Amino acid sequence: MATFILQDATGIGSDDLDPAQGFIDMSIIANDTGLGIADPAAGKQRMTYTRTGNGPPRLRLDAMINTAFSPNYGSGANNVDTIVVAGLKSLVLGDGSLMANNATVLAPRSSGLPGASLNPTEQCLIIYDTKLTVCVARAGSGGSLDLPVSPPVALYHEFSHAFRVVTNSLLAVTGICDPSSPEERAAIIDENDLRTDLASRQGASATLRDPGNHCGKTDSDCESCCIIATLVSRSPGSRQVQMLRCARDHFVRGTDVGHAFFEQFFHDYYAFSPQACTLMAGDQPLRRHLLEGFVDPLLDFWNVMVERGHRVMSSTQLGAAFIALHPDRLHAEGRHAALLRTSAYWDSGAGQSTDAPAQLLALLRDRAWPSPYMQWALVAPVRLMHALLTRYLAGADAPAIGRAFTEALDAWAPEVPISTLWEALPAAQVRRELGFCERALLQTTKSKTRFRQRLGERFPDITAVARVLGRVQALDEGDTWRATTANPTT
Ligand SMILES: [Zn+2]
Repeated sequence: MATFILQDATGIGSDDLDPAQGFIDMSIIANDTGLGIADPAAGKQRMTYTRTGNGPPRLRLDAMINTAFSPNYGSGANNVDTIVVAGLKSLVLGDGSLMANNATVLAPRSSGLPGASLNPTEQCLIIYDTKLTVCVARAGSGGSLDLPVSPPVALYHEFSHAFRVVTNSLLAVTGICDPSSPEERAAIIDENDLRTDLASRQGASATLRDPGNHCGKTDSDCESCCIIATLVSRSPGSRQVQMLRCARDHFVRGTDVGHAFFEQFFHDYYAFSPQACTLMAGDQPLRRHLLEGFVDPLLDFWNVMVERGHRVMSSTQLGAAFIALHPDRLHAEGRHAALLRTSAYWDSGAGQSTDAPAQLLALLRDRAWPSPYMQWALVAPVRLMHALLTRYLAGADAPAIGRAFTEALDAWAPEVPISTLWEALPAAQVRRELGFCERALLQTTKSKTRFRQRLGERFPDITAVARVLGRVQALDEGDTWRATTANPTT
């Protein structure tokens, strides 16, 4: 026995741990049903692992979990266990250092190795923020800090350091991040093994971290976007997660209002998603159902929205795009059944006969769905896709689906939650932001008119908003006038 997950941080730091998330992150690293965890005893849970797969991450976990390490740091051999301390952002160590967006290994107190003086125990501690969002140097980029580190990747990186602590083979460590020290270089090379493994599970090639550069920065644009998609698809590098990130990037690009939207979106999202992950962690069938009946339809919807943001789509094109999502009737029926099976999660009026876990439903009802951001970005799109699919299965053709899709988007798009940021913008920027919204999201006259109306009602006393709205209207009229009285001298 050699690896544990800590339940209670008393004596090590402030008591803000998330051991269930620690196990989820371990499960993402292993991707192996042989990984298990014993009941809590003495404030911690022992990991168990009967390895069924190969590859460096599984071999490393196997060694860490199933070996009794007895390193000799100079005063005789002693058993040293590895203890995972899965901390929330508020975890503070004994010396006052905050673990937010951080991950570290503390060698046993009497070892004299790096971090030992902060470690009150004789075990090797791996401490990491389960919600960390850090960007590091991408290999081959010459030092661009644009490669995200997800919590499982950070945890696995620390396992590399821990392995050399418990085998007393730690390499030289320096305080300089570029070039990286030999110890950090070794940990990054191991970290890349997991990146490669995560990518290969999706049949993709990995984006690797530069082993010669250990620098990092915290950046909200680099957060691993969607832990629920990560969990249900079992991988932070999955197609589903990449697509969500892509949709987000498309709608944020260069606009302050888009950025403010996602700030609030993630605030509301993180109010329930870590707990939802925990509740789903041990339930493989539930995860599969949510992937098929919630995450996939949501991604399909947002993919069409991204495409529509790049080019104005006619109603016929929208109908064709919807139909293309369902290559044959069997697929459409399967998707429809999956939507019905999960409707209890996204439609509070549905699912009376559901056998969904009551705790998860209560969590969504109380913490997720009251947020207008969750309603607009997650719930309404899935409801919309369900309604279109019902029509499609009832025999509606592409033009009819296209008309229904356009109508549904006209009702949905302009109801996007309006950030208070608008009231702080100068008129020129209000005009730019409005232009972006109209091109990327609203598109139709009906939709634009409704959004302008909402904006005006929301900020009746804000001069910049009123000026732009008044002027936009005047310009529109001017355009019409010019078009009908073409003036060859201008
Ligand atoms: Zn490191």
